Amino acid sequence: MSTVTGSVQAAIVTVGDELLLGQTVDTNAAWMGRHLASMGIPVTRRWTVGDDADDIRWAVSEAMRGGNLVLVTGGLGPTPDDFTRDVVAELLGRPLAEDPEILEMMRARYRTRGMDDLPAINRRIAEVPWGARKLANPHGAAPGLAMEGDGALVVLFPGVPRELRGIFQGDFTTLVSERFGESLPPVHLHLVHTTGIPESRLSEQVAERLPQGTAPAGLAFLPDVRGVDVRFTFIGLETPEVEGHVRRLEEALESVLTPWRFECASGDLAEAVADALRTRGRVLAVAESCTGGLVAKRLTDFPGASDVLEGGVVAYANEVKSAQLGVDPSVLARYGAVSEEVARRMAVGVAQRLGADAGIGVTGVAGPTGGTAEKPVGTVWYAAAVEGRSVARKERFPGDRKAVRERAAQAALFLLLRLLDGRVAADG
Ligand code: ATP
Ligand code: MG
Repeated sequence: MSTVTGSVQAAIVTVGDELLLGQTVDTNAAWMGRHLASMGIPVTRRWTVGDDADDIRWAVSEAMRGGNLVLVTGGLGPTPDDFTRDVVAELLGRPLAEDPEILEMMRARYRTRGMDDLPAINRRIAEVPWGARKLANPHGAAPGLAMEGDGALVVLFPGVPRELRGIFQGDFTTLVSERFGESLPPVHLHLVHTTGIPESRLSEQVAERLPQGTAPAGLAFLPDVRGVDVRFTFIGLETPEVEGHVRRLEEALESVLTPWRFECASGDLAEAVADALRTRGRVLAVAESCTGGLVAKRLTDFPGASDVLEGGVVAYANEVKSAQLGVDPSVLARYGAVSEEVARRMAVGVAQRLGADAGIGVTGVAGPTGGTAEKPVGTVWYAAAVEGRSVARKERFPGDRKAVRERAAQAALFLLLRLLDGRVAADG
């Protein structure tokens, strides 16, 4: 991805039998790798070992040999199968001592939960290797623990992903910039959100038009079921230089990106749609069949949705489509429920019925059953309307029922966004 040449090199050790047995996917290592890279710190090596003292000792020693920043997650808990703290304390020659602050904090946590005293076993969490720096855990009892040894900074994190992330983004990030700040290159990210174009096609088109001489940018495509984020990473450049590169990139890629991109702080298209409705003073109503309310759910995930969403109708049965949305039964009979005509009338009808000026209609075959030769599973017609004028699209979405529904909701939201900002025109 990126061309990192900083002098800080990280190594990761993740601990847990469940990781080796495949019961838990090692998301901690991936998450840390991504976040360290965006801080200009490459992860050069990684180990996963079980809950075994000898194996942990071996992996941490190896990691310290190869990197000057070693991150260890898991096995910090209070149970007898949690060895990490003891093993690392021994390895670095730091005897364990009970930390009165942690003990008191744990007692307080127990009291607020209405429990009288701390179970004896939990006192283990308060044992800290001599001289270790504690890194606050906003979501749990066990703090992160940071120690120097043989030229490496060794940091222990709990295995629980939420706790790890809280510590990492708080005290750990502060510690890293204190300890390595001088040798860390500046990092700038430029993120472009897209939807509606597959990763393979997008990456091909981007590669074709990528200007020569933008080599300092690391390029990554980050796909999920809703779309693909394109991330440019600039490491070791000052802001004005980065701005120049971003301008050239944007110019070169404009024709590729413009049809598919959207902008908003969260990266969630629903927020971009809400922003677009708000700035245009429009209010939306949604009519959903196969998405069963998912479009409305996406929009109401964001606070302030009441400014831009009037409401919605889940119109599963044909009777609901006609009685509640005014879709003519003869249209349903003639074209079928999954059709352009019905999608358009759902979008226009729901806006009229709920007193909104914009509408969305979605009707499709989410599967796994119900497909026909003419309308196979994944076929979805969706429409967006503004002031009674609509635009509709048909797509055959890949994937299982959940993926089809996610993709249909996303596509319908994107069609409305493009209608609002003039990238598509109403034609019905
Ligand atoms: P605890 O106090 O909960 O015992 P711990 O530091 O001992 O914390 P573990 O027991 O190893 O951590 O793991 C706690 C939880 O976090 C488990 O549900 C485990 O599956 C999950 N977990 C541990 N390591 C990872 C990892 N590398 N990636 C994702 N999840 C993990
Ligand atoms: Mg544990």
